Amino acid sequence: AYNFNPGPAALPLEVLQQAQEQFVDYNGIGMSLMEISHRSKEYEAINSETQQLLLELLGLESGYQVLFMGGGASMQFATIPLNFLKPGKIGSYIITGSFSEKAYDEGRIVGEAAIVASNKEGKWRSLPKASDLTIDPNSAYVHMTTNNTIEGSQFSYIPETGNIPLIGDMTSGILSRPIDSKKYAMIYAGAQKNLGPSGVTVAVISDELLKEEPKHIPLILRYSNHAKNSSLYNTPPVHSIYMMNLVLKWVKKNGGVAAMEKQSIEKSNLVYDAIDGSGGFYTGNIDADSRSIMNMTFRLPSEELEKQFVKESEQHNFVGLAGHRSVGGIRASAYLAVPYEACKALADFMSDFQKRNG
Ligand code: PLP
Repeated sequence: AYNFNPGPAALPLEVLQQAQEQFVDYNGIGMSLMEISHRSKEYEAINSETQQLLLELLGLESGYQVLFMGGGASMQFATIPLNFLKPGKIGSYIITGSFSEKAYDEGRIVGEAAIVASNKEGKWRSLPKASDLTIDPNSAYVHMTTNNTIEGSQFSYIPETGNIPLIGDMTSGILSRPIDSKKYAMIYAGAQKNLGPSGVTVAVISDELLKEEPKHIPLILRYSNHAKNSSLYNTPPVHSIYMMNLVLKWVKKNGGVAAMEKQSIEKSNLVYDAIDGSGGFYTGNIDADSRSIMNMTFRLPSEELEKQFVKESEQHNFVGLAGHRSVGGIRASAYLAVPYEACKALADFMSDFQKRNG
């Protein structure tokens, strides 16, 4: 199948095969990894190696901790204000799509939250410019979504927030391009797009921000508690973290983040070129300078044709091309594990579909 699922998403075939080989008998121990203690030396090795690999790939070798948490990226929408939004302070949010709206909504439940900028009125077509961002100096943090999964946009710059901690939801874009990670006090991502299967969420937090120990919230929700326990405060999703370990090694082996970016640009360009060269048959949802290299969104001349496009694509072994139910249209999610050939096949299918229906 050409897997364009938005998430859970494609995993590298090689990783799936490797996991299959080790599924029943992990490294000759006579048991599956899922049958042994998370405090065993085998799992402890995976736990620390996976954390180190992620820090290395993000270029954050010192001053940050990696936490493996449950509850998905949505849980982070709540734990961020619970941990960092002190009374008298404001949680500031840059709103660029429905996931950043959800993060803001959780912030508002916990305390005072403000919108720094929003492009909702423009139907999310373009992202706010750096000069549009006026940040309240009383902010506890600034929250942004670096890649907007549903809408299909990505930031091309990192906002300057001075001393105010910047927090990035990178669920659908992590490791897809080299970034100056140190500009973020916290980076988080649900694993199920670029990092592995669902079940684990990574929160990468600076030592500085981890000094905040909100005594009024339960230990299970406190970042500092998970950090002190190296993500072994309670039973972690062992298998998901093991799979992430294999995916991170695969990224590293295949040239690291710089190579992932190069490939992602080439792959997404195949689809964007098919849109831009269609003479208006396909129209992109997002302005060219804000387009995502992970999630490509576009429309056809009618909803009827869109339905037909999705139906025929399925007959040609394409999976996951229907746009999000809140947006409609088409969305192709080409995360790191989606091969170039899949995007080439999609571009060819788009051109063929246009010939028959344009
Ligand atoms: N943030 C972004 C950018 C996402 O793409 C998603 C899921 O698609 C989420 C948050 C929510 O993630 P989860 O389903 O892990 O809670």
